[in-house]
Amino acid sequence: MGKVLMIGAGGVATVAAHKMAQNPQVFTEIMIASRTKAKCDRLAAAVEKATGYKGIQTAQVDADNVSELVTLFNAYKPDMVVNLALPYQDLTIMEACLLTGCNYLDTANYEPKDEAHFEYSWQWAYRERFEKAGLTAILGCGFDPGVTSIYTAYAAKHHFNEIQYLDIVDCNAGDHHKAFATNFNPEINIREITQKGLYWENGQWVETEPLEIHKDLTYPEIGPRDSYLLHHEEIESLVINYPTIKRARFWMTFGQQYLKHLEVIQNIGMSRIDEIEYEAPLADGTGTARVKIVPLQFLKAVLPNPQDLGENYEGQTSIGCRIRGIGKDGKEHTYYVYNNCSHRAAYEETGMQGVSYTTGVPAMIGAMMFLTGQWVKPGVHNVEEFDPDPFMEQLNTQGLPWHEIHDGDLEL
Ligand code: NDP
Repeated sequence: MGKVLMIGAGGVATVAAHKMAQNPQVFTEIMIASRTKAKCDRLAAAVEKATGYKGIQTAQVDADNVSELVTLFNAYKPDMVVNLALPYQDLTIMEACLLTGCNYLDTANYEPKDEAHFEYSWQWAYRERFEKAGLTAILGCGFDPGVTSIYTAYAAKHHFNEIQYLDIVDCNAGDHHKAFATNFNPEINIREITQKGLYWENGQWVETEPLEIHKDLTYPEIGPRDSYLLHHEEIESLVINYPTIKRARFWMTFGQQYLKHLEVIQNIGMSRIDEIEYEAPLADGTGTARVKIVPLQFLKAVLPNPQDLGENYEGQTSIGCRIRGIGKDGKEHTYYVYNNCSHRAAYEETGMQGVSYTTGVPAMIGAMMFLTGQWVKPGVHNVEEFDPDPFMEQLNTQGLPWHEIHDGDLEL
């Protein structure tokens, strides 16, 4: 039915590749391309062994380089490019899609390398060009952003006339038995968490100090966990697409050990994203050279690789939306829709932990929605702009079943 080119061969891409290969009737041809071809080859071999899928192709590409991408897209001619590299590559990949007539999907919004700041304006600026080219770009199709936005669209379609209060709650109650590790790319993760908090209230953005606001929230099958208000990208498009929202916030759980390490990392300057000069020994042992390094990128090189956490990861994640508003009957109602995902089950199926799994599965479903003709809309769109029903149906069959609580206590 469709030919897909996936960029990236990390944790999220590993899950997405397994899930695509489990659905060969939709993903009839697959290519994995990334900076390091050996990783793509290893991933293709692991996926073929686990699923019996045959003929996954691989390629080397620097996704920061538009002309390299154009050459690859022109040679392979995919129906859709699934961007599972890093947020820094979003614009170059979108540009190459436009130049070659490919549709586009990603899981995280664009971020410049030299500024820890993310917002949709850079990608929304491509709307008219995608629309004129008759190409569909689907933005933010992981879990959060992604499933959380689709949960909101589903609530608006089936349960509410007016969504007034939205709290997205993201709990990782897993234990990987490491003193400190991040669950996805450490550089992106630490940049996100050390930013100022931001939420939407009464028509305006309210800024907080990083991790300033927190409270205990109770998660299904897990119990109470300290949850911190963060700035998260899906809020930006949801308050535009659902203008009845009076307040929208995003909460994520962190343990004290994680926060203590983060504080030290910041205090000693290792979370800096500017270049510093460093006298480094040469790899061939012939002396030293003055080099420039970015401390956070160096830190990434010494931290545990998120892809290696899966084997001993216990516990589960629980991510959902807590919503209050005016129901279809004209009365006030609350609604909590969520998924719990076991790290162990994710690892047994794909070799990756739950955070990669909860991102890679929705990325695959988003591509499936496009390739099956259910989410085809020229332009650049956030996921809540599409029909949530077929996507919600697939979540139940592809490994991320969801549950609902009507008129319960939202705690918020
Ligand atoms: P990883 O660091 O594990 O993988 C990133 C991959 O991208 C690597 O294979 C890397 O190659 C490749 N890559 C990096 N730069 C380039 C480049 N210039 N050209 C080609 N390939 C490149 O990250 P994750 O898998 O953890 O995360 C992937 C994406 O998913 C990120 O954008 C992240 O923000 C997003 N995400 C979204 C979530 C959501 O719920 N929406 C949740 C979690 C993550 P190499 O191996 O050579 O370094």
